Amino acid sequence: GADMIHVDVMDGHFVPNLTIGPPVIEALKKHSSMIFDVHLMISPVHKYIEAYSNAGADIITIHPEATEDLKSSISKIKKLKKKAGVSLNPKTKIDTILDVLDEIDLVLIMRVNPGFGGQSYIHSCTSKIRKVRGMLDDCSSSADLEVDGGVNVDTVKEVIGAGANAFVAGSAIFNDKSSVAENVSALREEMRTS
Ligand code: ZN
Repeated sequence: GADMIHVDVMDGHFVPNLTIGPPVIEALKKHSSMIFDVHLMISPVHKYIEAYSNAGADIITIHPEATEDLKSSISKIKKLKKKAGVSLNPKTKIDTILDVLDEIDLVLIMRVNPGFGGQSYIHSCTSKIRKVRGMLDDCSSSADLEVDGGVNVDTVKEVIGAGANAFVAGSAIFNDKSSVAENVSALREEMRTS
């Protein structure tokens, strides 16, 4: 019932945790025709963009702090014919993306500090979502505004109200309470009634 698979790639350097690399994405890709939304929490990210593109990423999202030149990293992703995203940590200023606003397909707002699942969300990020929505609307951008971290049935209405239109859910979907499909449909029901 989900629209895409969000893959959190962590390097044990840019963020403390360590997850998976291109071979795992390539292997997963064989089992799904869904969009692979690959969130790179690795630094320096620039030289790895091509490997994740080749592995099957459809959307490649990077952090401004993880590259020396955000504009050239974004254009590298676009040259590979992939959708490009920029992710903002709770402490990252939103003007960081002003220069690349007309080139990106997605802005990913982190509502927790990246690195580990299951964190509770940081409320001040809601006003950040609202501000980025305003920036995107001001330049008539059709980029998706995606929220990562702490999204669940209790919080999704708040982020939709602030202007987000894509949601990453980890702990809300994968838990012992109900099946993955039931959890996705509960989240969708909350979205539908927002
Ligand atoms: Zn993520």
